[in-house]
Amino acid sequence: MPKDVSRVAATLVTALLLAGAAAAAPLRVTPPSGARFLVDQRFDVRVESDTPALLASVKLYVDGQPLPPGAMQADAYGKGLNARNRSFQRPGRHELRATDGAGNEAVSSVEVIDPFRDHDGFDAGQALGDEGLRRQGPVRNIIILLGDGMGASHRTAARLMRYGVEGGHARGLLAMDRMPGLGLVMTASLNSIITDSAPGMSNYVTGNKANNNQEGVFPDNTLKASTDADSRKSFDNPRVEYLSEYLHRKRGTSLGIVTTADIEDATPAANAVHTADRNAGTGVADQYLDESFRTGLAVLMGGGRRWFVPSNDPSGYSSRSAATDYVLPADLSLAYGLAPGAIDPTRNLIGDFQAQGFQYVATRTDLVAIPNDTTRLLGLFGWGNMNVAYDKIAARRGHPAVVDAYHAPDQPMLDELADAALRVLDRNPRGFVLMIEGAHIDKQSHLMDAERATWETIEFDRAVAKALDFARRDGHTLVLVTADHECSGFSILGASNKTIAQLEGLPSDVGVLGLVTPGPARQAAVGTYDTAGFPNYAIDPDGYPAALDDGFKPLQIGFGANADRFEDWLSKPLPVRDNPLLPDLLKTELAAKGYPIEPYQRKPESENGFFVRGQVSGTQAVHTASDIPISSYSSGSDAWRAFVGVQDNTDVFFKMAKAALGRGDRD
Ligand SMILES: [Zn+2]
Repeated sequence: MPKDVSRVAATLVTALLLAGAAAAAPLRVTPPSGARFLVDQRFDVRVESDTPALLASVKLYVDGQPLPPGAMQADAYGKGLNARNRSFQRPGRHELRATDGAGNEAVSSVEVIDPFRDHDGFDAGQALGDEGLRRQGPVRNIIILLGDGMGASHRTAARLMRYGVEGGHARGLLAMDRMPGLGLVMTASLNSIITDSAPGMSNYVTGNKANNNQEGVFPDNTLKASTDADSRKSFDNPRVEYLSEYLHRKRGTSLGIVTTADIEDATPAANAVHTADRNAGTGVADQYLDESFRTGLAVLMGGGRRWFVPSNDPSGYSSRSAATDYVLPADLSLAYGLAPGAIDPTRNLIGDFQAQGFQYVATRTDLVAIPNDTTRLLGLFGWGNMNVAYDKIAARRGHPAVVDAYHAPDQPMLDELADAALRVLDRNPRGFVLMIEGAHIDKQSHLMDAERATWETIEFDRAVAKALDFARRDGHTLVLVTADHECSGFSILGASNKTIAQLEGLPSDVGVLGLVTPGPARQAAVGTYDTAGFPNYAIDPDGYPAALDDGFKPLQIGFGANADRFEDWLSKPLPVRDNPLLPDLLKTELAAKGYPIEPYQRKPESENGFFVRGQVSGTQAVHTASDIPISSYSSGSDAWRAFVGVQDNTDVFFKMAKAALGRGDRD
C-alpha cells in the first residue's frame, strides 16, 4: 500500500504544479507526467514551444542523456518537434527533460511496466498476493464487452425488466451478474472528470489518459479548427500504441471490433485509429484498413456504410468528404512505415477491404451464411448507426416501419454479431482481442428514452452470454464487461400507479410548471417506495418483453443528468433520429416521416406530458462522473481476479497485458 500512496501523492504534487503553471508554460513535453507504458510499448515524444524561433535551440534529455541531433523532426507548423515511435526497454521510472535557449525547461516523469514477469507495481498484485499471481495462467483471447454509458442502474433496469422480482428476490440474473469478478472503474479522461467515449475506450486499451474527443493520441498544439481544411492536424498528434497493436506485434493476435453504432463512432475507433478528432469519419474508416497490418484487424462490424461507399455513390447516402479525410505528416508515416493516407472522398472502401481478403456482408441473412473458412470479415448493416434492439425486435415481430425507414430491414442483433465475430477470430491460433460495444445504451440514455436504453442493455447482455459460452469452451479467454462512463444519471424511480390507458388520458401539464399542489398529473403517476411494487414483464421466446407497458408501466426511469424534456411515462413509438451519425439525406427523409429530431419534440407540446426542467443546457442528457462496474471472468486462469476492487481505467490496460503476456504464457 505505501508504494501506491506515494505514487498518488507524487501525481498530486505534479498535478498541482501543472495547474499553477499550465497556462503559462512556454515549453511543454509529451507524454505528460503520470504516463505509463509497457516495456517496448511504442509512443511519440513531442516538445512544444509557443515561440517558434526557440525550437531550433530545444534539447531533449531521456534519463539525462541528450537525444542525438536529428532525432527530433520539426512539424510543418513551427509549433513543435517530434521524436516518433520511441519506447523504453527497462521497467521503472524514466524522465524526459526538454530545455531551450531561453532557459525554459519542461520535465515529464513516466513509468514503465513489464508485462512479461510478475511484479507488485499495482493493485492487482497486492490484491492477489504472490500465490494468486503464480496461479495466473495463459490468456490467449481477450473479449472486452463495452456497454457504452452503462452504469449500475442500467444493469439493474435490464435485470428487472428481463427477469422480474418475486417476494423481494430477483427471479433471474443477467449473464454479466453471474461473472465471478466485480470491480469499479474511475473514468476520468486527461482533461476532465467527465469523459466522452473517445478517451473512455482509449484509456482502457492504451494504458494512458487521452483528452476528450481524442483516441490513441496525446494532445498537441495543432488542433484543427472546424473552418480549417488541413486535416493533417487531426492525425498528427503524438501517438500511443494500442493493446491490439502491441499484442499483434508481440504475439500475432487478431483484432475484432463489433458495434451497433456507426463504426466511425468513438468507441470502435478508439481500438485501432489514432486521431485527435473523433468525428473525422472518412479518415477514421480509411485508417481501419490502411493500418490493419499493424492492428491485426480481422473483423469489423457495425453500421456506417456511408463512409465506405464513394462520395459520388448513386445511393446518395455517402458521407465521405475531403473535410473529414486524413493525410499523415511525413515524419509520422516514415517513423511507422505507413502509407501517408490520401484525400480521396471517391474511394471505394468496401472494394478495398475485399481486395485485402475481407468477406463483405450487409444483412443478417448474409452474416449467417458466411463460409466456414472466413478469416477476415467486414459487416456494414446500416448507412449510419444500426437501429436499436427495440426497433429491430419490432421488425422481427412484424412491425418493420422503423428499420424500413432507415433502409436496413435485415439487421443482426448484437449476440448474432458476437457469435459470427468469435467464429472468425477463433481461426487464429495466436489469439485475438475482440471489443463488442452495446452502443445505444448510451445513445438512448442521452435521448432519455428509458425503454430503448433498457432493451439495449438486455441485447448487450445476450452478447455477454455468447462471449462467456465461448470462453468456457475455449479455456484460454479473459472476458471483461464494463462501460466507458455512465450516461444520463439513469435511475429507477418506481412504477406507475396508473394504467397505460389512464396515462394516455391525462391532460397536458403545460401551464402547471410552478410549485403547485398537487402538482402535474403525471408527477402523481409515479409510484414510489412500497407503491412501486415488483415489475414482472411477460417475456417472449425471443428474450425480450412481449408488451412494452404490460397494462401498467412497471418501471419508471428518471434521468439525473437530464436536459429539458417532456415526460409522459409512455414508451415512445418512434426513436429520436440519430443526429450526428446518419447520412444527411437519410436525416432529411426521417424528418419528413415525422421522426423527432430532439427528445423535447416527441409530440406536439399540447400532448407532451409534463415538462421537466433539466439541470444542463442543450437538448440531451449528459455523461456523469459516476464510477462504473467492471465484471470479469477468465477460463483456464485466475486472470479475472485482477479486476476486483476500485481501479483507474488505465489500470485495466496493464492488467489485460499482464494476463496475455505474464509468466504463464511464455515460450
Ligand atoms: Zn455518450
